[in-house]
Amino acid sequence: MKKTIRYIGYILRDCRRAFPVFFAMNLGVDAVRAATAVMQPLLLARILELAGGAPAAEEGRLAGAIALYGLCLVCGPVADAMFRSGSKNARVRAEKYFGNQMTAFSAKIRLEALENPETLDKFGRANASMTNQIEFFEQMLFLSRSAVTCIGLMAVVGRYSPVLVFTGLFALCPGLLSKIYFEKRLTAFRRSQSSVLRRSAYLRGLFSRKESVREMRVMGFGEYLTDKWKETNAERARDYRKMNLDISKKQVWGIIVLNLCYAFNIGLSFYLMAAGRISMGAFAACLSAFTAYDGALGNLIAIMFGIVHTYHIAEDYYDYFTIPTEEDGTEQYRPFQNRISVRNVRFRYSGSSEEALRGLDCEIKKGEHVVIVGENGSGKTTFSKLLTGVYLPAEGEVLYDGQRTDRLCRKSLYRHISAVQQKFVRYRFSLRENIGISDVARMGDTAAMEQLLRRVAGEDFLKRVGGLDVQLGREFNGLELSGGEWQKVAIARGLWKDSDIVVLDEPTSALDPLVEYDILSKFAEMIRGKTSVIISHRVGICRAADRIIVMKEGRVAECGKHQELLQTGGEYARIWREQAKWYE
Ligand code: ADP
Repeated sequence: MKKTIRYIGYILRDCRRAFPVFFAMNLGVDAVRAATAVMQPLLLARILELAGGAPAAEEGRLAGAIALYGLCLVCGPVADAMFRSGSKNARVRAEKYFGNQMTAFSAKIRLEALENPETLDKFGRANASMTNQIEFFEQMLFLSRSAVTCIGLMAVVGRYSPVLVFTGLFALCPGLLSKIYFEKRLTAFRRSQSSVLRRSAYLRGLFSRKESVREMRVMGFGEYLTDKWKETNAERARDYRKMNLDISKKQVWGIIVLNLCYAFNIGLSFYLMAAGRISMGAFAACLSAFTAYDGALGNLIAIMFGIVHTYHIAEDYYDYFTIPTEEDGTEQYRPFQNRISVRNVRFRYSGSSEEALRGLDCEIKKGEHVVIVGENGSGKTTFSKLLTGVYLPAEGEVLYDGQRTDRLCRKSLYRHISAVQQKFVRYRFSLRENIGISDVARMGDTAAMEQLLRRVAGEDFLKRVGGLDVQLGREFNGLELSGGEWQKVAIARGLWKDSDIVVLDEPTSALDPLVEYDILSKFAEMIRGKTSVIISHRVGICRAADRIIVMKEGRVAECGKHQELLQTGGEYARIWREQAKWYE
């Protein structure tokens, strides 16, 4: 209940901020409509009383009441037509407002949370429900108007007999209760389908990505994937149909009770008149009020049906904002002068039973070129995530000259760090943006960027692609690069940023050995003056390193220079021998 009240508060706050004019006008129009709806039966009763044999002196009053009644009839629709036309514009504003709200929040979500599939489901649901709040707002106004109308009409009907009020109210209950129950079921169903929907979208996506389409054709499993997609959707459609049928059947009962109460009330009014308890005029007014009351109750039920539904959708939107965000530290990062110390660090991914890091200890000195090697799954990438502060240790600490990463204002730390990820991103932007995005202020420095590209990608690259301003990616009619070329662009992006520390995770995995050798031999020059950490499962890269950290099962197995480690005859020597066999 508390959550519901809080979320309704959020919706009203956000609607007021997103479309203030439309918000205020709607409130005004609905106040007018509610007032006129209540006045109409009151005035009608008055008119009938005055018309039923009133003395001549009352004629003025009668005319006044008729005029007011007429005014009430036209007032609401006119106000509606005049002020409610801004709905489309409000929708566009709502899209912008809620879109901004989601993007700003997404940027702060803790990266660990992104590892959790539930986060992706929440994102999908929130994204689909972004503009729903405007509907909720409109329904809420309509609900308030219907409720005010009902209360007013209840007062009118109550003047003739309180029983009529209670039977009218009773009529409301079964429909409302069943709706609340079914909405709960529907929402649970909808939420349970998020991951199925995501899987279905993923499978559909496989048919629009050229890599997967090529592979499925050559390997001949297109039909298998089509069947898998069909099966995912068929199952969902089957469940949905079954539940809808069940709901429709049960809803009929609510409608039957409503109509029975309606019939009972008409009969009762007739009985009251026949028994001489109310006059003919009062009977007519009572019937009119009761018909309006019944209509308003019907509206109330219908709108409650709708509002419970839209509320649950709004809940999907606001639930997204409960995902943990990055807890930022308060200390400003002071560029380290001596060393980064990693002390007894432990880390486990959410939803995983095994620890990825199990008491990691090591030091990296300023200006050192360190290579981290180890077999797949030994924890190298996880280590790099903790080193750069994007993940925080569950136990232990990562210190930059004694400053703990969890206490640092991460933005101040990131300003000095550059990272090239193993799964590098191919931005479908211009080549200049692909590189310059890591230091936007210098993006216009063509000479420096060309020089960097010549080093990373070779002399011919720029000539071949047609300059820095070429659009990349076929999706936007741009130039498509090879996997290796995209990786070189990612390396250039990492080196473009003016940082103290560069962390490169498998930076040459998509390059052929000759190009890899060429880049790595120039590397020392390109990162001169910086501290660098290169992660690789290939040991060929290690000869030139100041220090090699060998990882095994989430810990440092050994540490030293190439020759030292070969002589020790441990894990490094074993990997070296294994890999040397490929080239014999
Ligand atoms: P490496 O880079 O040495 O191949 P990783 O750091 O990627 O190793 O992985 C270390 C361990 O953590 C592995 O057992 C891997 O399965 C697990 N792991 C990596 N990423 C995730 C993740 N996102 N969620 C759960 N477990 C993960």
